[in-house]
Amino acid sequence: PLVLGIETSCDETGVGIVRGETLLVDAVASSVDDHARFGGVVPEVASRAHLEEMVPTIERACREAGVALKDLDAISVTSGPGLAGSLMVGVASAKALALSLGIPLYGVNHLASHVAVDIVEHGPLPEPTLALLVSGGHSSLLLVPDVTNDIRSLGSTIDDAAGEAFDKVARVLGLPFPGGPHIDREARGGQVTIDFPRGLTTGRDMERHRFDFSFSGLKTSVSRWVQAREAAGEPVPVADVAASFQEAVVDVLTRKAVLACKEHGAQHLQIGGGVAANSRLREMAQSRCDAAGIELRVPRPGLCTDNGAMVAALGTQMVLKGREASRLDLPADSSMPVTQVQS
Ligand code: ATP
Ligand code: MG
Ligand code: FE
Repeated sequence: PLVLGIETSCDETGVGIVRGETLLVDAVASSVDDHARFGGVVPEVASRAHLEEMVPTIERACREAGVALKDLDAISVTSGPGLAGSLMVGVASAKALALSLGIPLYGVNHLASHVAVDIVEHGPLPEPTLALLVSGGHSSLLLVPDVTNDIRSLGSTIDDAAGEAFDKVARVLGLPFPGGPHIDREARGGQVTIDFPRGLTTGRDMERHRFDFSFSGLKTSVSRWVQAREAAGEPVPVADVAASFQEAVVDVLTRKAVLACKEHGAQHLQIGGGVAANSRLREMAQSRCDAAGIELRVPRPGLCTDNGAMVAALGTQMVLKGREASRLDLPADSSMPVTQVQS
């Protein structure tokens, strides 16, 4: 099937077109630069940018893929979770397209889409796959027997998401928003010299929160370390702090992910979401998976951050698995749970 996917859950207007397992085009317009001076995404600014970019991005995607709208077999759209106003622009646009073309509409989960995008990169997901989902708003370990209708959460963050921790620590270090890519870059020129805490990895914490994460203590610890340096009138070794913080996050993520694979008999680990673009995470995950005999699947960095291809990829699976289409009055659901694939 030929499926067009629309993503507008945050600040990226994404339109992707997928034919079966082949990605034809991934067009993304981002309003990130409009938010940078505020140090975070401003919902009103994001919704307005989606309104302006939606039609041009659909047109660009079709042109670059050499696809006419009338050739499409289905439309899929992120129906949640995300910013309510942003989601509404995508959902309304998708409804209009599906209605006017007389083709089925699938409202799908943004987080499941972060997992499903790997299908256009590395082929069908083995069932079950263990997925580590690490993004700006979420951090979860998921057991995925079937990405179209059965996702189980083994654990998730009890405070900040991994991406949120990257963004907050970047701010402490005076790096621009969004901070993840800047920390990644800084860390390459630094050394892991500081032993920051690994939350929920030992003793009772580990027993109670085997597959959960906690990053707010780590963020506070980095913050205190930097403040102590400044108070002493000493320069802050930004690259070393970035490398040490990143190492702590990546160590916990990969350790728990590999453990979850072993305990749940998954031979494949899929990593998705914006933080999956992190070079050190990709590197450490690869070496730990190699050591454990687990096959690692991580899409190219451009498909880890928000895009329309991921939504088209999941929509395609819905069609192939014969799932019923969504109703044309489907709502945008800003707090859609990670275990709900479709609305
Ligand atoms: P969610 O998917 O939970 O709704 P989101 O869609 O806003 O959140 P994504 O686009 O999936 O988030 O990911 C964005 C996050 O990924 C940001 O926090 C950003 O800092 C982080 N990120 C992007 N690239 C990197 C990188 N190379 N290293 C670390 N973090 C990164
Ligand atoms: Mg973004
Ligand atoms: Fe996302």
